[in-house]
Amino acid sequence: MVYVLNISGQPLMPTENRAKVRILLKSGKARVVKRCPFTIQLMYNTKSYTQEIALGVDSGSKHIGLSATTKDKVLFESDVELRNDIVDLLSARRQNRSARRNRKTRYRRQRFSNRERKDGWLAPSVQNKVDTHLTAIRKIHEILPVSKIIVEVASFDIQKIKNPAISGADYQKGEQMGFWNVREYVLFRDGHECQCCHGRSKDRILNVHHIESRKTGGDAPNNLITLCETCHTGYHKGAVRLPKTIRRGMLFRDAAFMGIMRWAFYDKLKEIYPDVHLTYGYITKNTRIRHALPKDHCVDARCISGHPDAVSDGTVYCQKKVRCHNRQIHKANFIRGGKRKRNQSPYEVMGFRLFDKVQWKGRECFIFGRRSTGRMDLRLLDGTKLNSSVGYKNIHLLEMRKNILIEERRKAVPPTGKPLGFPAKHL
Ligand SMILES: [Zn+2]
Repeated sequence: MVYVLNISGQPLMPTENRAKVRILLKSGKARVVKRCPFTIQLMYNTKSYTQEIALGVDSGSKHIGLSATTKDKVLFESDVELRNDIVDLLSARRQNRSARRNRKTRYRRQRFSNRERKDGWLAPSVQNKVDTHLTAIRKIHEILPVSKIIVEVASFDIQKIKNPAISGADYQKGEQMGFWNVREYVLFRDGHECQCCHGRSKDRILNVHHIESRKTGGDAPNNLITLCETCHTGYHKGAVRLPKTIRRGMLFRDAAFMGIMRWAFYDKLKEIYPDVHLTYGYITKNTRIRHALPKDHCVDARCISGHPDAVSDGTVYCQKKVRCHNRQIHKANFIRGGKRKRNQSPYEVMGFRLFDKVQWKGRECFIFGRRSTGRMDLRLLDGTKLNSSVGYKNIHLLEMRKNILIEERRKAVPPTGKPLGFPAKHL
């Protein structure tokens, strides 16, 4: 897939006709604006012809799945790895500062009022995740004419469970959806742990068990309990006895905590883009299972976008958010003799920076570490080490570092349409 911009930089529908792209580029009618994902800009006026493109976002705390689809085709699919080092870095900073204050005990006057949390304040680790979501989505809008965005905000719809009038209507439609919703809620409420053996059976498959039969007890949360498959089948065979505390109508603590990040992200998104919709995890899960699709962030995003049967050519863009700065100048511990050691190599070593995308022996990889001698540690985005000591003369620069690194990866697509994941080393 080649992404196309018109003469004024607005995105058009992408093309798969690489031969035509090559001719356009050779004749000077187009120019390359981005290497990865490969994007060209047309240098002549064109009619803008667009189809409806839905962007599904499977947001999470570690990964984001993104999938831009039309009715029958996947146009862009990406898996973004988020930063999870912020909490540790901030607590390390707090310790360093506190240690320093204890050494230098002079009184310093307060400089300004910086102890107040503004409205809408989020913890830095959460804020960074929200920002990364928004950046990733903005970057897709730069290359594709996305018409609507669909976001999964939670795994279940608590309003529907609390208000039986709504879920009652669901059952009248003859849907199983209502149960799927309650099921996700019960799993969440029980902390994704078997309430009989509390994980002692080591069985990771969880079932939701009706304490009284479905006919008499119904699908209310107080008739449901999370059991692992071992305990569940054991109970129905009569081999396992459930603890006496488990009985119908028992009071459960309410699931008070709901992920704040996804809601904050959804609210921000609505401010920026005109057409934003929400969906729930249980609907996604149901769609994925009904269409016999594998579990994967991108596939989930495809289901969220509302086109689970859209055909992918197997290209997935793996992205990784990395820290922009490393502000610690020196190592916290001195070397023997009281020498302070620099915390990092110089910003630029022989013209290369940390996280530059380079080519080495015909392969694209990233600089994950550099030494002042000019020897580099080269890795792929998933952390696969290629070589930890390559001389700078043997590599050449493809792209300068960005805050979100991006790498193209291909998944083989067998004729059944079920993609098989291959490790990156087979490329
Ligand atoms: Zn169990």
